[in-house]
Amino acid sequence: MIKEMLNELKNCTLCEWKCGINRSEGEKGVCMLGKPKVASTTLHPAPPQSYTVFMAGCNFRCLNCQNWSIAHFPEQDIRLRGHLDPKELAKESVTKIRSRRGKAIGADRIFFSGGSPTPNLPYIEKVVEEARKLDEDVKVNYDTNGFLTEESLKRVSRFTDSITFDVKAFDPRTHRELTGAPVEPVLRNAKTIVKRWPEKLWEFRYLSIPGVNEKDVEPFAEFLADIDESLPLNFLAFRPNFVMEDHPGARRSEMISAVKKAESAGLENVSWSGHPGIDRKKDKTELSQKIKELGCTNVPRRCGSCKKRLKCPVKKYRPLSRS
Ligand code: SF4
Ligand code: SF4
Repeated sequence: MIKEMLNELKNCTLCEWKCGINRSEGEKGVCMLGKPKVASTTLHPAPPQSYTVFMAGCNFRCLNCQNWSIAHFPEQDIRLRGHLDPKELAKESVTKIRSRRGKAIGADRIFFSGGSPTPNLPYIEKVVEEARKLDEDVKVNYDTNGFLTEESLKRVSRFTDSITFDVKAFDPRTHRELTGAPVEPVLRNAKTIVKRWPEKLWEFRYLSIPGVNEKDVEPFAEFLADIDESLPLNFLAFRPNFVMEDHPGARRSEMISAVKKAESAGLENVSWSGHPGIDRKKDKTELSQKIKELGCTNVPRRCGSCKKRLKCPVKKYRPLSRS
């Protein structure tokens, strides 16, 4: 299997960038990942309760990334657990879910997060296959930024029980400024999941960044309500991070307002979570200006076709603090 996995990485088209590069020979795409790698693992009490596996690498380059060290520098961070044998990770996951603490928090699934799981998809498939040999009832959650090919999404649908689907922004320009990637494939995949595998959707998640993507709340909620008014949407309160470490963060009143706006747009199942009220210096710089100041001249960003993507100045940013 390791051989099969490396073969697939010889022409990597797992995500919508479809880089077509040979990751097993050290070539790097936007995700900057060679062999699949595990960053860290933990039992996690937030619903759906799970043994969470944070995979390294990401196909987005979000200015607001809260896991920037594992997402942007998967080959350099020495604290990562690394390329674990899929059988070992499967055994560890099942053991942790069955442990006293696993039972106490109600864990019933392996939750693949990141970074982004998608650059690690063939590895995840193998871990799930091995885990189900040990416990055929063990569930799986796939946490995605939505930027995977239609073929990869089909593969995910075959093994996952639940999908947590993060949408970073609805407006195409804002999405590119924040993530470096176009929003269209994300919205296409959101629709596909709802139409083809509605029972697998745990919830949509929308990171609420006041002053940046709050104007998208109503149109995004309308987009979802047009598909199905009962779709679950959870707003996550932004914690200042990475390039946006001086952003004031989200306030409780802003989270409540986002919920009300989404409800007025027709959605019936809206909530919010996270930690609002982390106030810092108020940085009012426009995103496009901030990106230019960091040295990215490709605004709005499109990292997949950028000549500087392997020496990206945005990725070199080192925050002074982390929340
Ligand atoms: S960015 Fe996507 S297509 Fe490119 S190498 Fe990474 S996973 Fe493969
Ligand atoms: S320099 Fe290129 S790779 Fe880096 S953020 Fe800008 S568009 Fe993306």
